[in-house]
Amino acid sequence: MADRISTLVMFGATGDLARRMLLPSLYGLDSDGLLPDNLRIIGTARTELDDAGFRERGTSALQEHLPEDFYAAGIAERFLSRLHYVPLDITQPAGFEGLAKAIGDPCHGVAIFLSTAPSLFKPTIDGLAAAGLACPTVRMALEKPLGTDLESSREINDAVAAHFPEDRTFRIDHYLGKETVQNLIALRFANLMFEPLWNSTHIDHVQITVAETVGLEGRGDYYDGAGALRDMVQNHMLQLLALVAMEPPSDFNATAVRDEKVKVLRALRPIGAADAELATVTGQYARGAIDGEPVPGYDEEIGRDSATETFVALKAHIDNWRWKGVPFYLRTGKRMPMRDTEIFIQFKDVPYSIFASRGATTRPNKLVIGLQPEETISLHLMAKAPGLDRQGVRLREIPLDIGLANAFSEYRRRIAYERLLLDLIEGDPTLFVRRDEVEAQWAWIDRIRAAWAEKGMSPKPYPAGTWGPSAAIALTERDGISWNE
Ligand code: NAP
Repeated sequence: MADRISTLVMFGATGDLARRMLLPSLYGLDSDGLLPDNLRIIGTARTELDDAGFRERGTSALQEHLPEDFYAAGIAERFLSRLHYVPLDITQPAGFEGLAKAIGDPCHGVAIFLSTAPSLFKPTIDGLAAAGLACPTVRMALEKPLGTDLESSREINDAVAAHFPEDRTFRIDHYLGKETVQNLIALRFANLMFEPLWNSTHIDHVQITVAETVGLEGRGDYYDGAGALRDMVQNHMLQLLALVAMEPPSDFNATAVRDEKVKVLRALRPIGAADAELATVTGQYARGAIDGEPVPGYDEEIGRDSATETFVALKAHIDNWRWKGVPFYLRTGKRMPMRDTEIFIQFKDVPYSIFASRGATTRPNKLVIGLQPEETISLHLMAKAPGLDRQGVRLREIPLDIGLANAFSEYRRRIAYERLLLDLIEGDPTLFVRRDEVEAQWAWIDRIRAAWAEKGMSPKPYPAGTWGPSAAIALTERDGISWNE
């Protein structure tokens, strides 16, 4: 394992992500004794604060975002004493001198976490380099979005690579910090029973759904320039797809796992203009209701007409031996009827049912991996209902639940960022996204966006509180498949 760091510098320390996720996650690690004893956390942003002011903000962030029974004043006091603050406007290079002074020797044990708008990444890196803070040992963590297309993503990656080599660059996709996502890897490669079935001979299709009930949540400026395809599919959903579809890595290490994921991403069949209308659906929510409460439409929320999609459904194919002919249906949207993130794997039916002559029908097995709102894994199997079967055999589909909350009740449920921050502190990039992965993701997404433009496709309205435009149902029904709802 690489050396543990002793200074974590957090850009965007006054922002929403720091407040809701990063500070509570670091507290969680401290509470479990996992932070290095000497770790200092230096926050920076434009807001004029001193250490005491930042600690005050830290206290309110912890009290607001940690479960009440997990917040302990004694641990908080120790944690808050690690926090320091340097005010800095990234666009003013001179300000980096103050940060350099606070960090001291940057060549020993420093990691930098950029939690700001990506337009500030390049000036940040230039400022760090000019102030002598781009030492060969510094680790650099970057939040999404990494660009808005392949070209802008390359510009960001080039700017980072000018001072921080790939093995010290930690691109965050917080889905990879989720326990169930890591459990998908364990399920596939720590058990014998799935791998022989994990291919086009036995799997009928895969569905990946990321459904949110929320609308813009005050992030309208960012979201309107991004849309569902770039905000969700380009990163989180393609990462989930890659983990489902990858070949067995030779080891659970950063190179082996990421080598396998990138092969899948590169094998995604491009969706061009000829296929876009049949293989993709876009939508934008109109006025409707969520949980019985009326909610405004997207245009109303954003205060202008917009052609940004808040829903997208896709039929993807992976062109390789294992997945030939297996559709991967991806669907994500805002203002859906329920919050639900899941991977649904539908196996094929038994080749011949010996129960047909006894009036019973079988249904194909399903594996459902739930990420939100609960982390669950459930294998749906056929079983015989109890009884003497005088009127015929009764088969019923029953779930075999590996409910993580029950099976591992002795473990605290962690925020996904806890895992990623600890890996950053300890220098393990396995659960971070490599440059070639990000670029393969963008190349596939850019092609779809170009096809939409070429075909003049625009999002179809759907009432808030529904599962998107009716064309999304037709996307799977054409193949005789229903979305798992
Ligand atoms: P945010 O609330 O808008 O915070 C932005 C941060 O950047 C603030 O601390 C702001 O502080 C600082 N900042 C802005 N301009 C600056 C400048 N010129 N110099 C120095 N600091 C500056 O954004 P966020 O929600 O925390 O998100 C941060 C990044 O993470 C974004 O790229 C976002 O897309 C990504 N992200 C966020 C979430 C989330 O849940 N929030 C989830 C995934 C990814 P001052 O105003 O004090 O300068």
